[in-house]
Amino acid sequence: MTAEIIDGKAFAARLRQSIGNEVTRLQNEHSLQPGLAVVLVGEDPASQVYVRNKGTQTREAGMQSFEHMLDVSVSENELLALIERLNDDNAVHGILVQLPLPAHIDESRILRAINPLKDVDGFHPVNVGGLCIGDPSALAPCTPVGCLLMLKDYFDGSLAGKNALVIGRSNIVGKPMAQLLLKESCTVTIAHSRTQDLPGVCRAADIVIAAVGRSEMVRGDWIKPGAVVIDVGINRIQSDETQKPKLVGDVAFFEAAETAGALTPVPGGVGPMTIACLLRNTVVSACRQAEVECRL
Ligand code: NDP
Repeated sequence: MTAEIIDGKAFAARLRQSIGNEVTRLQNEHSLQPGLAVVLVGEDPASQVYVRNKGTQTREAGMQSFEHMLDVSVSENELLALIERLNDDNAVHGILVQLPLPAHIDESRILRAINPLKDVDGFHPVNVGGLCIGDPSALAPCTPVGCLLMLKDYFDGSLAGKNALVIGRSNIVGKPMAQLLLKESCTVTIAHSRTQDLPGVCRAADIVIAAVGRSEMVRGDWIKPGAVVIDVGINRIQSDETQKPKLVGDVAFFEAAETAGALTPVPGGVGPMTIACLLRNTVVSACRQAEVECRL
């Protein structure tokens, strides 16, 4: 293996440490304690784990965590009423509604009801549009922000002129990732299920972001020598060796590691960065709402 492994777990721990320090400063200098409200509808076990982890990490950073666990039968109007209360609550600076929502609730109606200033997931059309037009106050979705922070760290700050390929065009990862890379002056290509000759397109990329949801789809011989590969995929498969479930990414890790300059592992790469970036977005939002400087 020749590639450098980008350790997202360690990167996220350092980021959470600096967020914790900033929260302490905001409390001492401005009596401001950032608060994050997380809303979960239903009892999906994976979502429950995410919400618990978010709550724990929010409290560990010295912030307030408000968890709202609602029964799966909650009506759309009841959920809208809760969001309205959270929008009006001065202790709540960030609101996250865990997706997916049950089929009887209109997801886009719920996301649009969140005050854009508190939309720490960056899914409100005001923030999506703000990201597209380069509005510096737009809140960007957490997973792509985490990918960008790791890339900027690897390239010592500047990505200008790099050929970046984003595989996947979802609203949660692919599209905002492409916008963030464009903002950094990369030459951006977005690939999807209808892209012709994806291996060939990939071989021209200095940066590859794989956000597809297909286990180990990106093979080693797709990677340009020295390219940096960020693997967003989380796929649960059965291990051939142990016959137990295991997580793999969208990139064939050991093959890619022979050619890439650097890459992120799964688990331990992009995953840990997502919650750290959620905390970061919450602190940034709290500072904007309180009209004080944010030093993150
Ligand atoms: P979506 O299913 O919403 O989007 C997948 C994208 O991949 C689509 O744009 C689709 O194209 C494209 N695609 C599917 N098959 C192919 C193919 N054969 N070749 C090229 N492109 C293809 O997924 P998400 O963006 O929500 O998530 C992607 C992955 O990232 C998942 O594994 C998910 O679990 C993971 N994830 C990880 C997070 C983290 O914190 N680490 C956070 C969010 C997601 P088309 O549009 O044409 O259908």
